[in-house]
Amino acid sequence: MNNHTNLHTSIDNDAIPIKIDAVITGAGFAGMYMLYKLRNLGLSACIIEAGKNVGGTWYWNRYPGARCDVWSMEYSYQFSEELQQEWEWTEKYATQPEILRYANHVADRFDLRKDIYFGNRVHSAIFNDDSNNWSIKTDSGLEFLATFCIMATGCLSSVNQPHFQGIDNFKGEIYHTGNWPHHSVNLSDKRVGVIGTGSSAIQTIPEIAKSVKNLLVFQRTANYTIPAHNEFFTPDFIKEIKSDYKGLRERGKMSRGGTAILELNEVNAVDVTPEIREKEFEKRWQAGGVSFMGAFQDLVVNPDSNKTAADFVRKKIQQIVIDPDIAALLSPKNIIGCKRLCVDTDYYETFNRENVKLIDVSSDQIEMITHDGIKVSGNIYALDVIIFATGFDAMTGALLSIDIKGKNNRSLSEKWINGPRTYLGLQTEGFPNLFTITGPGSPSVLSNMMVSIEQHVEWISDCISFMDREGYTSIEPEMDSEDKWVNHVNDIAGKSLRSTCSSWYVGANIDGKPQVFMPYIGGVPTYREICEKIVANQYEGFILTK
Ligand code: NAP
Repeated sequence: MNNHTNLHTSIDNDAIPIKIDAVITGAGFAGMYMLYKLRNLGLSACIIEAGKNVGGTWYWNRYPGARCDVWSMEYSYQFSEELQQEWEWTEKYATQPEILRYANHVADRFDLRKDIYFGNRVHSAIFNDDSNNWSIKTDSGLEFLATFCIMATGCLSSVNQPHFQGIDNFKGEIYHTGNWPHHSVNLSDKRVGVIGTGSSAIQTIPEIAKSVKNLLVFQRTANYTIPAHNEFFTPDFIKEIKSDYKGLRERGKMSRGGTAILELNEVNAVDVTPEIREKEFEKRWQAGGVSFMGAFQDLVVNPDSNKTAADFVRKKIQQIVIDPDIAALLSPKNIIGCKRLCVDTDYYETFNRENVKLIDVSSDQIEMITHDGIKVSGNIYALDVIIFATGFDAMTGALLSIDIKGKNNRSLSEKWINGPRTYLGLQTEGFPNLFTITGPGSPSVLSNMMVSIEQHVEWISDCISFMDREGYTSIEPEMDSEDKWVNHVNDIAGKSLRSTCSSWYVGANIDGKPQVFMPYIGGVPTYREICEKIVANQYEGFILTK
């Protein structure tokens, strides 16, 4: 290629700024595949990555017990049959070290590292109206001039670190699950406090409880979690999957959540007898994982149906946790599946251990951190280590931490002051040639991320290839199509119970963040169909310029 337009630039590493076709921010699974695709188009492209290695979320979230709650044989790339045939997953839910090994394998196998600038954080991306390109600068002084600016910054990568008064006076160690150190952390025989009871906490608590002297869990909101029933794969099982890996992947793409194992029972919970409901919930509980929410099709739309599932889990908690007061505190009161459903190994069982204590901070919140520990309602809980499992500034945090300015020097943070505005979660009006992989307004966090990443990367590379063929140099959404998409995303979110609680999906976990349901809830197949139709209609809703 390279004969048609002026899209292509050959990279000169010695020049400042470095001229290049595309700069990708982030070397997680999205960034790595994007680089691979752009290279195959013959474009010059590079990744800028803050970490010292590939893996994105799996590079940073290396806390004890971290693993993925999407089935490993689906939480992996499908673009290369050779890759998926040669890689051997060992467990149903892969551990963080295994996923990181996979990310490294991919980087080596496709020789990606030579075009990745590790240890560099992008701090600004400014569009030049005159030259129709992006000036991208890093905190280490690198500067790039690129036609395309592609954000592969992840949906859950900017950590939420609450600023408790006195935090700097704490004499012990402080960690965040989302930014866990790369050196080994010795927690054995220590008094450890975990703040938070979301997915990260629910994974780490049972693991660290085994070795610490005492574990205090500071719970503000109880969460629903379903046992993983994790297991190692047998060689026969792997062989069977690999004999029709493509089939499994196709079924995944056709399912709402982008995963074949999440089978939806197309029956309403309210239309069946209590006995049938119980049987179905029990079957799902025994199978384990997030497919519990597929037990009935109306669980996230009908509060009465939802209550049947919530009651089932509450009953399980009462059966597992010996102390009825602790069981009551651990029993969530809100809608099940409204905050992201968690998946665990022995979470509720862990509260039967003598060295584990649950501290309720729902009404009497954490007052401050002192020299010795955490203060709640006048009591100081003495600790050697505090672990923040307090989550992320989801979906927009990483994007808005970069100074992004589009046409006429308008900043993205100004444009998104009342919440993110995109067309398809892929682009935002006024920011030509800027793409966001799994951006707000796309299925992203409501789906198997690998499926959504691959769909977006392929859409973007097809788009760039189209532009190249047709002689276009710039693409951005029309204001009208963006408005309609934002309204559509809001409208369908409003029909689901998922938009009704204070979750990170709506930005409620971050003070001052506008509260908007950010991901597209219409499901992976519908979304894919919409994207394909738009392409078939010559990129309907986008402005393409020569
Ligand atoms: P999270 O779900 O946002 O949970 C954060 C926890 O910290 C909540 O319990 C929250 O309480 C608590 N918290 C926050 N600020 C607090 C404060 N000032 N005082 C007391 N408690 C406070 O974060 P996460 O557990 O890191 O998970 C985020 C997402 O990452 C998950 O939902 C999931 O999508 C993804 N993740 C996935 C996996 C996986 O297996 N694939 C594993 C880990 C994470 P409130 O609820 O009261 O706000």
